[in-house]
Amino acid sequence: MPGYERWSDLERKELMDVIDSGILMRYGFDVARKGHWKSKELEAAVCETFGCAHAQLTSSGTAALTTALSALGVGYGDEVIMPSFTFVASFEAILSVGAVPVLADIDDTLTLDPASVRRKITPRTKAVMPVHMCGSMADMDALQAICREHHLWLLEDACQSIGGTYKGKKLGTIGDAGTFSFDFVKTMTCGEGGVVMTNHRDVYVKCDGYTDHGHDHLGVDRGADLHPFVGYNFRISELHSAVGLAQIRRLPEFLETQQKHHTALKAYLAEIPGISFRRVPDPAGDSHSFISWFLPTAEQTQRAVEALREAGLLAGSFYWYNNNWHYIRKWDHLKRALTLNSLSPEVKSRLEAETNQDFSASDAIMSRCVSTSISLLWTEEQLREKGMRMSEVIRGSL
Ligand SMILES: *Cc1c(COP(=O)(O)O)cnc(C)c1O
Repeated sequence: MPGYERWSDLERKELMDVIDSGILMRYGFDVARKGHWKSKELEAAVCETFGCAHAQLTSSGTAALTTALSALGVGYGDEVIMPSFTFVASFEAILSVGAVPVLADIDDTLTLDPASVRRKITPRTKAVMPVHMCGSMADMDALQAICREHHLWLLEDACQSIGGTYKGKKLGTIGDAGTFSFDFVKTMTCGEGGVVMTNHRDVYVKCDGYTDHGHDHLGVDRGADLHPFVGYNFRISELHSAVGLAQIRRLPEFLETQQKHHTALKAYLAEIPGISFRRVPDPAGDSHSFISWFLPTAEQTQRAVEALREAGLLAGSFYWYNNNWHYIRKWDHLKRALTLNSLSPEVKSRLEAETNQDFSASDAIMSRCVSTSISLLWTEEQLREKGMRMSEVIRGSL
């Protein structure tokens, strides 16, 4: 999914505008910045490209999730339902606002299983946070229906699915708020950065203030701004926004290449007897950043992964079941609530209870799943070689 693979003069040019003016901060210094407002421009480009009313840039995707949760009023006493398969940022953000992450099972979409979400709802549930993992989407109709019925916020983590859609709408713009990460390995990058997208003006105004120490940005200068609430510093810099501005213009080109490479590689993998692929609720909306595939049993999958490793073909393919970053099974620090500062006793006991549940339904899926990331750099020759060798090695291992 990596925009960094296509570093170019376009990124250099946007950066040079900022370097020449010397104004690296996104607010103020109106004269010295010589008309360059990269962060504002990138926010406008996000609204235009993804079709949302408001966008607030942040210093990271994790900061975007934390900001969105704060703007939705999620905090002490609240529970947020999130999937067992995601990046660690999901629970980091929930814990950082003082709420309890409640983990639900995933299904063969590799995202939240709506039936499991229903079972996890309590009187304290405030939000549902689907994560559109590995380029494709959650069943948004089902999740929206649950949220409407129970009066819950729907916060989409679309960090890994930039450019994907669901029934014609861009992922990240369907719920009450949605986030992207622009970290170094995402579909488009700022180096580090993220964004909250929303169609609720009040949520946006809160995000705007929260990411900049609570400033209301209504004063004649920063010193004259009022502070309607306590904020934090999750600002992005002009240097990072400059990179993002070049990348967002190139996003159609990145997505087109991803789709082409995804289609070609999948055709080779589809020849393997017994292989199947993740269910995509709206196949037209896949962003194609990964191909996620299943073998019939966990043993066969583990043998295939070992065979790929021995053949030197495992780079870029991820067996999440054994991965320290993305799946509940290896999140010992979370399950043991190993935080540097004290959690409230209530949060701690709920956290330990919720993370030490039976996730066998998720295990049954994740133990058979491998995701192969799509590179923008592959030549046709490399793609053919990779496809043929992967297919041959996996077949040989079965
Ligand atoms: C990358 C990622 C994030 C966090 O983004 P950072 O910018 O690295 O903080 C959050 N959620 C998911 C699913 C991600 O892949």
